[in-house]
Amino acid sequence: MIQARTALTLVLALLAGYSFGLAQPASQRQIMPIKGELYRFRNADHFSVFLVTPAGILATDPIDADAARWLKAELAKRFAKPVRYLIYSHDHADHISGGEVFADGAVVIAHDYAKAAILRERRPTAVPEVTFSERLTVELGGKKVELIYLGKNHSDNSIVVRFPDERAVFAVDFIPVKSLPFRDFPDAYVDEWIESLKRAEAFDFDILAPGHGELGRKEDVRAMRIYMQELRDQVTQLLRSGRAVDEVKQLVTMEKYSSWGNYKQYLPLNIEGMARHVQTQLKPK
Ligand SMILES: [Zn+2]
Repeated sequence: MIQARTALTLVLALLAGYSFGLAQPASQRQIMPIKGELYRFRNADHFSVFLVTPAGILATDPIDADAARWLKAELAKRFAKPVRYLIYSHDHADHISGGEVFADGAVVIAHDYAKAAILRERRPTAVPEVTFSERLTVELGGKKVELIYLGKNHSDNSIVVRFPDERAVFAVDFIPVKSLPFRDFPDAYVDEWIESLKRAEAFDFDILAPGHGELGRKEDVRAMRIYMQELRDQVTQLLRSGRAVDEVKQLVTMEKYSSWGNYKQYLPLNIEGMARHVQTQLKPK
């Protein structure tokens, strides 16, 4: 009886884990079509994209070495074409580890500052051979892919990968779709982040492919920018009125975002991170 109950509890825990998107095994890998020959690659909670052309494949974040080996084998099996380019969204290890898996046949590209961070932080991946500061257009098999730097945001080296024919963009961690930004804005630049979202809003596209969660649309960029501005405004006002950070955490009202992912988990941390940022701005210079 006890054994049966334990087994049932375990089954329920597993079901609950799945329904809330928690505790997914790292082996949860998938390739999903986005549009035309543009596809999404999933490794548990992390996503990247790749474009298949007659001259080969342009891939983005390898995610980790095991995931990259799986993807490489799947691409060979399904499309029988080599990966010619590998583009890193930004330097963070949870997205770009394992680049060496593709580096034998692919040119690795990232922002100038991503290369610097990869070397400085000894990221476990291939060091980019080609870097750029503002924009770079990659042409492959008659397709054009635009790599665009919008300024500092979630990191100092995040880029947008734009697929003009598919009217899609790939952007990781700085335009979460209906989801709060990660924790307390580690490694981030809050004011520049808002400015870079404004620049992304000016792009012409329909599909937003983020590094986590569901696909989004152009409206999601604006929604994220407004979330950041509202949080910054509220935290600034409360700190200016002399409130301590603990009080600010109680007084900030962001309920209209309660349906967004990670709301309960990240809101207190988002407030702390924003308070830390605002305090540096309010300090007499
Ligand atoms: Zn990141």
